[in-house]
Amino acid sequence: MRFRKKDNGVSVHAVTGTYVVMLGMDMDKADTAGLLGFAIHRVDPAENEAYWLQGMRTFQESYPNPPDGALVSTHEHPIQDFLWSDFTAKPGRKYTYTVVPVSGKPKNLRYGQGVSIDVETEDESKGTHAMYFNRGVIGSQAYARIWKAGPDQLEPPEQEKAFAWLSRGLEEAIRVTYLGVNGFQFESTGHALLVDPYFSRVGLLPAALNQRIQSEPNRVAEGLKHVRPRVGAILVTHAHFDHLLDAPEIVRRTHARLVAGPTAVQLVESLGIRPNECQTAKPGDVRKIGPWTVRVLAAQHDRLLGKVPFEGKVNSAKPPIKASDWSVGESLAFVIENGGKRIYIDSGGVPGAPLDPRIKDVDLAILGMALPDSRQRFGEVVKQLRPRYVFPSHQDDMFAPIDRGFTFGKMTNFPALLRESKNLPGRLVLLDYFQPWTLR
Ligand SMILES: [Zn+2]
Repeated sequence: MRFRKKDNGVSVHAVTGTYVVMLGMDMDKADTAGLLGFAIHRVDPAENEAYWLQGMRTFQESYPNPPDGALVSTHEHPIQDFLWSDFTAKPGRKYTYTVVPVSGKPKNLRYGQGVSIDVETEDESKGTHAMYFNRGVIGSQAYARIWKAGPDQLEPPEQEKAFAWLSRGLEEAIRVTYLGVNGFQFESTGHALLVDPYFSRVGLLPAALNQRIQSEPNRVAEGLKHVRPRVGAILVTHAHFDHLLDAPEIVRRTHARLVAGPTAVQLVESLGIRPNECQTAKPGDVRKIGPWTVRVLAAQHDRLLGKVPFEGKVNSAKPPIKASDWSVGESLAFVIENGGKRIYIDSGGVPGAPLDPRIKDVDLAILGMALPDSRQRFGEVVKQLRPRYVFPSHQDDMFAPIDRGFTFGKMTNFPALLRESKNLPGRLVLLDYFQPWTLR
C-alpha cells in the first residue's frame, strides 16, 4: 500500500508490504542547509509501543567505534539518507511514523519540525492469494544479530526458530482447502495431506435403495485438479462410502499412503490397493508424515434414527459393491500439527462422549455436522477444544454433484449452529469448495 504526506517542508512517501515499511523523504533543496539526516519515530498502537527507530550508522564524532552490528537510536544518530526501510513491521498493522529533519553538529544536534504519517501494512492472507516474501540483505543483518550462524549450522530448537524467522509466516501458515462433504487438503511448505477426499457424489437414490455404487474416475480427476499432484497421506475418519469410496483411485493417482482404521484398510485392499500403500491406524498412534505430526483419536459416528448407519466392521477380502458394504468400521478423529499450529478434525460424534482432555487450545477445529447428534455435541466439543477458528463440516448436500456448488444438506441446520456459536470460543468459518483459506 502507498501513503504520502507533506508537512513543515518535509514530504514522506511510504510503501508498505507485509513485514516492511519503506519511507522515501524529500525536502526543498533550500531547506537542506546543514541537514545531517532524519530521526524516525514509530507508534505501534497494537503493541502499545512508541520509540525512535534504530539504525547502524553512527557519527564518528559522537560514537567513533561501534561494535559490529550495534544498533543506535536514529534520534542521536539520524539516518543519513533519503530512503529508509523499517524491517520490524508486522502484517495487518497500523503505524504512525514521524520523520524529523536533524541538522547542526553530531555533538550538538538540532531538530526541525517533522511530518507524521499514518500507514497500514498488508495482511498476507487476505483475499484469494496469500503473499509471503523472504528477507533481503538488510534483513540478513538483523538475522546475524540474533543468530551468529546460518540455520543449517544451528541445533534444534534454535534451528527451527531461525527457519521460522526467515520464512516470515510461510513456514507456520497452513493452507486449508475444502473439498466438499468432509474432504480437506492441508498444505504447508509444499507438503500436502488429505482427509476424507470424496468427489464421486453417489446420488441419493442409489444410496437410499442400497444399489451398486462405484467411484467415478472422471469426477475424481476433476476434484484432484484442486489438490497437489503429490500428497503425503490420505487420512480417513471412517469407512462409509462418502469418506472412502474414492480413496483407492486417489491413492493410485497421487501415490499417497492411506492412513485409516482396519475396516477402511481392508476395503481398499479388496479393491486392489497394496498393503504397503496403507497404514492401519488406531487411537493413540502418533504418525510423522513429512513435516506433519498426526495424532489418532477414537471417535464416535452420529446416529440416524437411533442407530449408526451401516454399522459394523469388515474383515473379509470381498470387494464392496453396495452402499451398505462400506461399513462404518472404526471411527477416528485426528489432531494434525505443523509449525506450532494444531488442527482437530472429526466427521461428527454423539453428545456426552468427551474427547481426550489433553486435546484443547487448537487453532482450528473441523467438526462434522451432518446430523442432529453432532449438532447436540457441538457446544461441549468447542468448549473443550477452545479453537481460534471453528469450521462446521459435512454440512453440504453430499448427494448433489460438486459442480453444482455448495448447498446445505437437508438434515443440517446451520442457523442453529450460528446462534449457538455466538456464546462459544472461536470464530466460525464457512469455506466454499476449492477456495483455499490460510490458517496462520
Ligand atoms: Zn459416515
